[in-house]
Amino acid sequence: MPGQNTDSNTYDVIILGAGAAGMMCAIEAGKRGRKVLLLDHAQKIGEKIRISGGGRCNFTNIYTEAKYFTSLNRHFCKSALKRYQPTQIMALLDQHGIPYHEKSQGSHEDKPHDSSTPQRDLQGQLFGDDSAELVVDMLLNEVSKAGVILRNDTEIDTVQHDGGQFSVQTASTRYQRGTNYLAPSLVIATGGKSIPKIGATGFGYQIAKQFGHELTETRPGLVPLTFTDDFKVALKELSGISLLAQVRLNKKIRFQDDLLFTHRGLSGPAILQISSFWREGQPLIIDLMPGKNLAEELQQLRKSHPKQELRNALAYFIPKRLALYFQDSTSIGGQIASLSNKQIDKLHDTIHNWEIRPNGSEGYRTAEVTTGGVDTKNISSKTMESNQVAGLYFIGEVLDVTGQLGGFNFQWAWASGHAAGQVC
Ligand SMILES: Cc1cc2nc3c(=O)[nH]c(=O)nc-3n(C[C@H](O)[C@H](O)[C@H](O)COP(=O)(O)OP(=O)(O)OC[C@H]3O[C@@H](n4cnc5c(N)ncnc54)[C@H](O)[C@@H]3O)c2cc1C
Repeated sequence: MPGQNTDSNTYDVIILGAGAAGMMCAIEAGKRGRKVLLLDHAQKIGEKIRISGGGRCNFTNIYTEAKYFTSLNRHFCKSALKRYQPTQIMALLDQHGIPYHEKSQGSHEDKPHDSSTPQRDLQGQLFGDDSAELVVDMLLNEVSKAGVILRNDTEIDTVQHDGGQFSVQTASTRYQRGTNYLAPSLVIATGGKSIPKIGATGFGYQIAKQFGHELTETRPGLVPLTFTDDFKVALKELSGISLLAQVRLNKKIRFQDDLLFTHRGLSGPAILQISSFWREGQPLIIDLMPGKNLAEELQQLRKSHPKQELRNALAYFIPKRLALYFQDSTSIGGQIASLSNKQIDKLHDTIHNWEIRPNGSEGYRTAEVTTGGVDTKNISSKTMESNQVAGLYFIGEVLDVTGQLGGFNFQWAWASGHAAGQVC
């Protein structure tokens, strides 16, 4: 029966982790009349939402579908995503009067899109017009309206299960003794390992293992890539350059979006996207002029502007500092008229198929997500409940479901939180 627990430390549902997934689940369960306790060790609730999308929160993607997620079971995410769609989180923002917009195709949102330039892959991203703080306030408001008890700054010591009830023992602090909370339902919403500075831990994985669940390999995803020292010297000189590029790992995995040179390595949406798939030792092939043909362009220029210096000609197509880098690294230069067809072909190949070998990534310190997680094979895709331990649920990023860049990860957090919130 909903709301049957009256003992002060006994609840119907305890949710560990008050991030996007945990808050959504708490709201839904609270609305059903369940007595819900939401615990988080962070002092400030919703930090990841606050820093998301460059502080504007890319809270969903209107083209959400399973193909934008990776998981050992690629069908797992379908049911929850179908039952909580982007329009539903949009409606919640509308109710709270929070304005939002779809990011435009131009790299700068105010720049009109030129239809002749190659398109970015990433579309349908919805961002708040103002601070992401509004989204956090909206969720906290809904949590409170649903009658959920929220306790921040609360360390979890142990979690136990006696067959019927879960008991969650919180740690003692200087000011307060730990408390033992009881509930027949326990939802794990503690997210992944990315950005430990704001409270990310591997706690959810530990609980999963404690209850006999397997984990798939966890890695930093949506993360800038790093390089060996000699290449880093070149990259430092190129630092700050941003351009549209197509980054390929193999025939199937390729992303076309902005690429950013930084003093540490390569970043930008195209690199973040591929980083979730890249493994140590693999090369990446980068087309720095997607949708164009450098050989044809240079042959044209050889006829129309034969006296033009190569570096100036290249600067029509790629930023000047990058043009100089390729002129130096290929040792091809001078006036275009002096270029042989072989040299033109070499330049073409270098710029359209630039091979780079990352030596690692910036790791969880800056990764936007953790790929992998709690294996979905023993979790119900309808309810997120464990098939092994009745009453135990896993939602959000802690599960082995990872979205691509573009609002998909929040949509998964909302959808999986909503699915569990209907039944826990
Ligand atoms: C910089 C950055 C920008 C991002 N931008 C976007 C974006 O614009 N769009 C998008 O879709 N996705 C974005 N993401 C990814 C997105 O934020 C996450 O996928 C999403 O927040 C996952 O939600 P969650 O509720 O599963 O986990 P989280 O939001 O990580 O919440 C987990 C909660 O559990 C708590 N917790 C952890 N360990 C413990 C413990 N031991 N005890 C108690 N509590 C604990 C944490 O404090 C946290 O509050 C971004 C991520 C980062 C890091």
